[in-house]
Amino acid sequence: MGSKKVIVTGGAGFIGSAVARHLVLDDDAEVVVVDKMTYAANRANLAQAEATGRCRLVVEDICDQSVMTELVATEQPDQILHLAAESHVDRSISGPRDFIETNVIGTYSMLEAARSYWTGLPEGDAKDAFRFLHVSTDEVYGSLGKDGLFHETTPYDPSSPYSSSKAASDHLAKAWFRTYGLPVVVSNCSNNYGPYHFPEKLIPLVILNALEGKTLPVYGDGSNIRDWLYVEDHARALSLIATKGRLGETYNVGGRNERTNLQVVETICDELDRIVPAATPRRELIKFVTDRPGHDHRYAIDATKLETELGWKAQENFDTGLRKTVQWYLDNEAWWMPLRKSVYSGERLGLAEPQKT
Ligand code: NAD
Repeated sequence: MGSKKVIVTGGAGFIGSAVARHLVLDDDAEVVVVDKMTYAANRANLAQAEATGRCRLVVEDICDQSVMTELVATEQPDQILHLAAESHVDRSISGPRDFIETNVIGTYSMLEAARSYWTGLPEGDAKDAFRFLHVSTDEVYGSLGKDGLFHETTPYDPSSPYSSSKAASDHLAKAWFRTYGLPVVVSNCSNNYGPYHFPEKLIPLVILNALEGKTLPVYGDGSNIRDWLYVEDHARALSLIATKGRLGETYNVGGRNERTNLQVVETICDELDRIVPAATPRRELIKFVTDRPGHDHRYAIDATKLETELGWKAQENFDTGLRKTVQWYLDNEAWWMPLRKSVYSGERLGLAEPQKT
């Protein structure tokens, strides 16, 4: 048997492109990326994977079910890794509609396309081995208090339009396993960071604002806690879960790296001051701004199941991963400068104005 063929939806985005790179470079797989190329996508994210000749981009909308059904039937993948989504909580507050369409309807459309293909396969190895991995977030579990961790059995309690649309899509994925027997596995991961992260999210936004001497906005009092995972550790986890995860199961993915938002911002300031000192310490650029509506206080993942059952372990801790990330942004101005100039220049999003239809 040759190397496996994988459809990666959302593969021109941040995590999807890390998954595509991992699959072609480390797993010797053939990858077909399906991506609508929204503001969050970037062809440059795929340059390294495409250069191998084993990664192709198909520009399509996952909500188009007939196109997806035909695409899956034509490509005959061994696995579908479903990452395409609207992913930014603040944008979901300003404009929830795209989140419902892509995250809920789009997931439905991918599940049906996969079911149509899988049902038509003859009984045998290819049918037995086929997997649909639905990639989700720990935000579906809601907010933790001071103590405790999210387990795979934690009840869903999402707070934002983003996390509630992802929760809905997780339920669809599980239902397609229970009702139709589609070989589905679900993963729920904590906050990712690393190279090619679109500069609307906290870590890249702060790195670039700090480099340019601009204000560093911190929501509320900065005490909200996130559990950070380096994106390449997530990509390795997803490949492993898709191949070895038990059908119908959920696997939590997280790095046991809890930090308050203020700690994250201060660490970035200190790291930049160390590598490229400015006239004054960059911590002086920190400004506390109005909090995000419905801002979850704390997320923290228990990844024991993934670690013990599948043998995964994060290779980076927050300090090593952040150092790599800061250095990547310093080395890759050609990637982020056009995004800052023409796609998103750092304005505040998500202050809950009603959406115009
Ligand atoms: P991203 O916004 O960087 O990338 C999403 C990609 O999906 C983009 O390339 C976009 O063009 C594509 N896309 C959006 N709508 C589409 C549509 N209708 N059809 C086809 N493609 C479409 O997001 P990301 O941070 O890489 O997240 C990827 C996945 O991982 C999402 O499902 C997200 O919920 C999940 N996740 C993200 C994090 C995180 O910290 N970023 C953590 C856990 C889980």
